Amino acid sequence: MIKNIFYSLFLITLILSCGKTEESSDDVKKEQVLVDTEFKYYVENVKEKLRKYSVSENKISKIDDVTIEFGDIHRKNGKEKVAGFCVVKYTKKIVYSQRITIDISQWHSFSSKYKTEIIAHELGHCAWGLKHDHTEDQIMSEILTNITEPKWHIFAEQIIKSSDNIRNI
Ligand SMILES: [Zn+2]
Repeated sequence: MIKNIFYSLFLITLILSCGKTEESSDDVKKEQVLVDTEFKYYVENVKEKLRKYSVSENKISKIDDVTIEFGDIHRKNGKEKVAGFCVVKYTKKIVYSQRITIDISQWHSFSSKYKTEIIAHELGHCAWGLKHDHTEDQIMSEILTNITEPKWHIFAEQIIKSSDNIRNI
């Protein structure tokens, strides 16, 4: 019984989300990329996994266009708090902002494994324009649970097949 309750709470805290907005003005400049030092280790973990599953350096380098920062994510409309989200902003010509926000109130309670998976999931949206996977237990599932090693292979395949124009999704 206790185990069941814990599991439910875990499911709730690991909900992730993403969003996209289009800016109509064409003279927008590309934002400077900043990665909070807390996340660098986990970003390296993700890169290492992707190399293991034969993702090209060209695809892996898309990670370097993404800002990753802490934020205080507020509950919306009584919904559960998300652990992280990605926002991509673009004009007709350029993608000028790729930004991941990680909820600071939850981050430190996660295991190293989950932290790597959360960063991988958000990079999935923000670096390669991947959408949520509607099958369960995938890195791109909306709720991150039970990620086993073969799931990294599936994630790598999704990245390899992704369009370089992340506005196209
Ligand atoms: Zn997501």
